[in-house]
Amino acid sequence: MTQHLLLDIEGTTCPITFVSEILFPYAKRELSAYVTENVHNSGQNRSIQEARREWERDQSLESLRLKKQVSEQQINEVEGLIQYLKHLISIDKKSTALKDLQGQIWEYGYKKGELKAALFPETADCLQHWNQQGINLSVYSSGSIHAQQLLYRHSCSGNLEGLFSHWFDTHTGPKKSAESYAIIAKCLNSSPKSIWFVSDNGEECDAARETGMNTLFSLRDGNPDRNPRDHQVIHSLHEVNAHLTTKK
Ligand SMILES: [Mg+2]
Repeated sequence: MTQHLLLDIEGTTCPITFVSEILFPYAKRELSAYVTENVHNSGQNRSIQEARREWERDQSLESLRLKKQVSEQQINEVEGLIQYLKHLISIDKKSTALKDLQGQIWEYGYKKGELKAALFPETADCLQHWNQQGINLSVYSSGSIHAQQLLYRHSCSGNLEGLFSHWFDTHTGPKKSAESYAIIAKCLNSSPKSIWFVSDNGEECDAARETGMNTLFSLRDGNPDRNPRDHQVIHSLHEVNAHLTTKK
C-alpha cells in the first residue's frame, strides 16, 4: 500500500524565520505598490476583488473606520483597501484573499530573483529520498497553493516542485479542523492510516489524528509551539524515515 507524507511547510520543511523575516516583510513592503499597479489590471484583479469583498463583509472596528474614511473622502478606495490589507497582516488574519495576494507578490519577487526559499538543510535530500522510495508527497500549508509551489520551485536547493503530487491550502479547509484532513485523504485516494502528517503545530496534529492519520510533531529552534502533547516528536526530517519503516 502506498505510504503518503503530508507535509506542512513553515516550521516543518522551512525555518519559520524565512517566512517571518523574509517572505512576509517582502509582501508587506511591496503590497502598496502591487495593489496600486494591479487594481485595474484584469489579470490580477480576482484576488484584489476578493479582498474588496472581504473588506465589505468585515464588520470589525478597523474595517468600519477605514470605510468611514473612504466615505468621507479622507482617503480613496484603493488606499483604504491597502490599509485594510495591512491591518489583516498586522493581526495575522488567515484571510484567503490576502494569502492569494501575498502569493502573487512573492511570485513577482521570485521571478525577479529577489527571493529564494531557504529550506532546512536536509529538506531537499529527504524529499528526493522519499520520492525515490515511492512515498507519495503532498503539501498542506496555510500559504496558498501558488505560494507553496513558488517556494519549492525557487528553493536554494533548486526546483523541488515536481517531487510533490498534491497541494492543499485553506481552500480545502482550516488546518485545525478534522474535516479538512478527511477531505485530503479522499483526494489522495488513501486511507488516513496510510498518511503521515508532519507539522509544527499541535492542534493541527490533533485534527489530523482525529481522522485516523499518523502524526509527527516537528520541534525546531524558533518554532513557537513547543508542546508536542502526545504526538511523536522529530527534530530533523531524517527522523521521519524511522517512523515510516516501523509503521506498516
Ligand atoms: Mg507550520
